Amino acid sequence: MTAPEFDGLVAVVTGGASGIGLATAEELSARGAKVAVVDLAPGVLPEGLQGFAADITSRDQVDRAVNAIVAWGGGLDILINNAGIPAVGTVEANDEAEWARVFDVNVFGTVRMSAAALPHLRRSRSACIVNVCSIAALSGMPDRALYSATKGAVYSLTLAMATDHVHEGVRVNCVSPGTVHTPFVDRNLARADDPAAELAALNARQAIGRMVAPEEVASAVAYLASPQQGSTTGVALNVDGGFTNLRLRPPVTTTRVAMADESDAS
Ligand code: NAD
Repeated sequence: MTAPEFDGLVAVVTGGASGIGLATAEELSARGAKVAVVDLAPGVLPEGLQGFAADITSRDQVDRAVNAIVAWGGGLDILINNAGIPAVGTVEANDEAEWARVFDVNVFGTVRMSAAALPHLRRSRSACIVNVCSIAALSGMPDRALYSATKGAVYSLTLAMATDHVHEGVRVNCVSPGTVHTPFVDRNLARADDPAAELAALNARQAIGRMVAPEEVASAVAYLASPQQGSTTGVALNVDGGFTNLRLRPPVTTTRVAMADESDAS
């Protein structure tokens, strides 16, 4: 019998107690990795996942969590920078404190975790980082100025880190999900004037006609993190139901356009 794909590898998933992070942690565990979940309060996790409480906005908490994970797992091979928070509004909508708060989680949290993990990743036989970016990094989306700016930074950081660490044997990639049905989206829906209409609009916005499933993003993250993908680095993989690249025709109307010869005949 062949060994599972991630056999002998230790993975860390930030924000792994909910949504995309939880689905990713479960996927990596199912494929044989030893998986640590870093979250504010990991709570009771499914069997096979080990929780480590830490706020990624604290350098001290991040360093302590990474050291504890290395002691627990005997090393660190895979870092999934998934923890992130939403922000709604135009560039005028949020004050500077809110801009700082969202950047502190979505961007600086990724920076802190990566810096803490790199000394251990350099010792791995199959090291990689996968950042969870967003379609908001590359497409203009209404009322998402702050959130989009953080994800644009995550996208650029992915390419810069992939370049810096390629000769150290550390691959760095990201996934860019479209709208994924997670508690993150449900919280936004709950704040909408008409949640049912907002839900229908979110489903319709993607070419496949529905939101992305967390498990679909998890599978893409696992693909990028796989020891079988040693040649894949500096890649942003869209998991977006066609949102970014497909240009669908609007529905065809039933109004008949008269042909020139028909009108001549009248
Ligand atoms: P979620 O809210 O379901 O889960 C996020 C997790 O991150 C939570 O468990 C939360 O406790 C944790 N977290 C938040 N701040 C933290 C901090 N300071 N320290 C440690 N943990 C913290 O969200 P989700 O929808 O699964 O989103 C996960 C990632 O995917 C985020 O980076 C988000 O920006 C990105 N994303 C989500 C969507 C979507 O539509 N849901 C689309 C594109 C990208």
